[in-house]
Amino acid sequence: MIIVMRPDCQEEDVARIVRRLEDMNLRAHISKGEQRTIIGAIGDERVLAEIPMESFPGVEKALPILKPYKLVSREFKPDNTVVNVDGLEIGGSQIQIIAGPCAVESREILEEIAESVEPAGVRFLRGGAFKPRTSPYAFQGWGEKGLKFLAGVREKTGMKIVTELMDPRDIVLFYKYADIIQIGTRNMQNFRLLTEVGNIDKPVILKRGLCATIKEFLMSAEYIMAQGNENVILCERGIRTFETETRNTLDISAVPLLKKLTHLPVIVDPSHAVGRVDLVPAVSKAAIAAGADGLLIEVHVRPEEALSDGPQSLKPDDFITLIDECRRVAAAVGRSI
Ligand code: PEP
Ligand code: MN
Repeated sequence: MIIVMRPDCQEEDVARIVRRLEDMNLRAHISKGEQRTIIGAIGDERVLAEIPMESFPGVEKALPILKPYKLVSREFKPDNTVVNVDGLEIGGSQIQIIAGPCAVESREILEEIAESVEPAGVRFLRGGAFKPRTSPYAFQGWGEKGLKFLAGVREKTGMKIVTELMDPRDIVLFYKYADIIQIGTRNMQNFRLLTEVGNIDKPVILKRGLCATIKEFLMSAEYIMAQGNENVILCERGIRTFETETRNTLDISAVPLLKKLTHLPVIVDPSHAVGRVDLVPAVSKAAIAAGADGLLIEVHVRPEEALSDGPQSLKPDDFITLIDECRRVAAAVGRSI
């Protein structure tokens, strides 16, 4: 249930509701907006059926939540969530670009890539140290050594690090090295993993599962938020369809739909969505026009030598041209990059 307080309500009115909810074994989640305070009752809200919440002092209205997700829903928190990553904001008026190789290959190559994307104004460097590969014989990433390369490049460039966590046993390692933890498409419904990242305060990029509906996607975000971590960024990265010309099919309508259903920031990964470097620019611009709060793009200085995802990795020059074009699209929709 969502309990909307009146603009002139007192602190004591809020405290009274919180006590009442806790007495009924419900958890109260308070969201203070610019205009109003909204209290969410978390738990089995059937116990509220007989309680006339609207007669409590300071309450304007009490609405049952019909959707299965609560904390992530826009009803629950009408204002956009802006995730703060060490002073850099994702979900505000500025669109953030996250760029880098699919996998961390060596310290030198990573640094070369980081320096090649920096002139475009990129402040987030991506790269996988633990890679979820379809084949057990493919390059699996350098593990902790790769995380150290990322941390070294952060030290040198000041860029923030985005990297994928696959196993709950590595959470302590990631807490130490990553600025944003990425949960990949294959793990969107790894509930143990979601619970673990929910228990820490690091920002999380949650990628949409290959075959996940929007509802399932939001339920996974709910898992993270239910543990207390509110720094969740959703990433649309294409879904599986019958089409084989592209690696996946970018669900562009997911962007405005998610922005409507949830207050969380929404970014798009055009690289994994299309899997082809020739299509990445067009879909990147479409994502910004559709309202995305950021892009996550694979870039490599020598895509032909990349250990993974070379065919979808942009060369630095093409990437810089693309970001220039994206800036114009962003301006057209009232945003900046
Ligand atoms: C990645 O970003 O490197 C990756 C593996 O993405 P996804 O989980 O979307 O396939
Ligand atoms: Mn990749």
